[in-house]
Amino acid sequence: ILEKDRGASYVLEKLTEAGYEAYLVGGCVRDAVLDRPIKDIDIATSALPEQVIACFPRTAPTGLQHGTVTVILQQGTYEVTTFRKEAEYEGFRRPSSVAYISDLTEDLKRRDFTMNAMAMDGAGNVVDPFEGQKDLALGVLRCVGKAEERFGEDALRMLRCIRFASTYELQVEESTWQALLAQAPLLRHIAMERVRSELQRMIDGPAPARAVRLLLASRLTAYLKKQLPLPFERWLAWDNALDAVSALEEQHDRWSMLLMLLEVPADIVRTALQELTFSRADGDAVWAVLALREEVAAQLSGGGDPQDAALQTDPAPLERVWKVRAVRSGEAAARALLRLLRVLQPIAGQRGELALFLDTAAPELVRRGEDWLREVPCFSLKELAISGKDLASELGMQPGPWMGKLLQFLLERTALGEMPNERESLLQAARAAK
Ligand code: ATP
Ligand code: MG
Repeated sequence: ILEKDRGASYVLEKLTEAGYEAYLVGGCVRDAVLDRPIKDIDIATSALPEQVIACFPRTAPTGLQHGTVTVILQQGTYEVTTFRKEAEYEGFRRPSSVAYISDLTEDLKRRDFTMNAMAMDGAGNVVDPFEGQKDLALGVLRCVGKAEERFGEDALRMLRCIRFASTYELQVEESTWQALLAQAPLLRHIAMERVRSELQRMIDGPAPARAVRLLLASRLTAYLKKQLPLPFERWLAWDNALDAVSALEEQHDRWSMLLMLLEVPADIVRTALQELTFSRADGDAVWAVLALREEVAAQLSGGGDPQDAALQTDPAPLERVWKVRAVRSGEAAARALLRLLRVLQPIAGQRGELALFLDTAAPELVRRGEDWLREVPCFSLKELAISGKDLASELGMQPGPWMGKLLQFLLERTALGEMPNERESLLQAARAAK
């Protein structure tokens, strides 16, 4: 790292020249040992924050309460943190106050896993008092110290454990795993935001299926601060589908697929994602895909709205259902659903509504859904060649909520190929409909 990152070696040099100890620590050392790409560089030092600030022309006090100063160089920014041990752990979370210390080994000791508790000095020597390198060579993820205590101090570490085990393809060392099983209920004390962030990184990572299996085996999902109405154990019935999740590149697609496998109504999923503190945009994107599939399935099985004007040809063929529902959900959701179905469709399901859908509608959607979308001239009211105002003046009517409904009706007619997206044809159809 030090050869590649001149900034990092400069920070270490400056601090040691000033008479302090300074090391690279944490994730960057781990990733260097593993020969993996390095994300952010953390530096630990015996210098106190104000002493760090005095060593460099440009710094930012980004985390003074934790002893962290960000050093700003042309090459990038570096987080420099004073050696510390954590004061009392409170409420099974990491404490807000810290105690500065002068000893590197003590600083490494407070870290979660042996592979994260290594340091590297300015000459590239690795300091590894807890044998992180040995564990990495064995492919083992192990807590520093007594695992039960470490998970008891900070319950988030249990999720980090599963994240690292899955993304770095490690076996959780036996006593660490037993401790995790024992302490799992403590996850209740961790804010949903932090839980969500870890879950996202697991699902985003190279081995989402392994993360899901470890989560289920650990029962951690049973101990979330907010109980989610999601039957996670249903994933067990979709073993092959879990393995297929990593074939999806986009994060939203992975979540949509995993949540689809739970076979709960899309609206319940949307609420659960809110509880998990997903952003509105993320939640809606996932929800829209599930809702689209649900509506297509309902319409095909005769469970759709019998008043649905656009689909009154009976029986509604898949093409019509697809086009109408796709313009209602939006193009993004429709394309996402096709990506999911391409991955899921070849996987034999168990019994159940989703399995039935995969057997019946999905093959044709996979074959023709994309072409059908291409035939749809526009997916939103904004793209229609006529506006609500135009309609009102042409029809000589007061503007009102009827405009939106009429526009939606016209949009779906164009989607079905009954008229082009041209002003005159739209007006004509509008007059006929009124
Ligand atoms: P990545 O950035 O890839 O998630 P990382 O190991 O750098 O991995 P960070 O969350 O950036 O993880 O934390 C940096 C270091 O701080 C870790 O390597 C670890 O030594 C320590 N650390 C982070 N979170 C905890 C925790 N909850 N308990 C103990 N030590 C922790
Ligand atoms: Mg990091």
